[in-house]
Amino acid sequence: MTPQAESVLELFRSTGAYLQGHFRLTSGLHSAEYLQSALVLQHPAAAEKLGRLLAEEVRKIAHEKIGLVVSPALGGLIIGHEVARALGTRFIFMERDAAGKMAMRRGFAAGAGETAVVIEDVITTGGSTRDVIEVLQASGVNVLAAGSIIDRSGGLADVSVHRVALATLQVAAHYPEECPLCKLGIPALKPGSRPA
Ligand code: ZN
Repeated sequence: MTPQAESVLELFRSTGAYLQGHFRLTSGLHSAEYLQSALVLQHPAAAEKLGRLLAEEVRKIAHEKIGLVVSPALGGLIIGHEVARALGTRFIFMERDAAGKMAMRRGFAAGAGETAVVIEDVITTGGSTRDVIEVLQASGVNVLAAGSIIDRSGGLADVSVHRVALATLQVAAHYPEECPLCKLGIPALKPGSRPA
């Protein structure tokens, strides 16, 4: 792991955003690690720093002048805004509609002749970033690259454009019946809850 990735993870640890233990994830799977990036991004100075670092990394792989930063709501809002601040571009976000389809709403517009990067807080499968990229491309926007603070896929998530992350993790998740921590008799916690 690079010194930069170490310092990013240390920022997550020191703000309680990178938890280690035994967690029951929303998916029902169990994991020894849990990332809650809202806890690091609640500190504007940390958000600004992470945005600046991520802006430098996406600039390296974009190969063209970046005109716009776009993020999927809700997780990408703060970091996308900070990346746009560092790049000096405007920032818009997309939301899923009632049918679960990613869409540009609130009067936001982007189209042919524009260049964009897509920014998320944590990439797991890359699904949200990929959906945002598809909407942009269908509108004629040239999507240059994508970036996230953390890549939890071990580098495997494919979003169809060049992608970068400040820290890459391989987070193992297990079905409860196969969970090594359950076998040790350690109780699983829902992230955000406290031990009884
Ligand atoms: Zn378990």
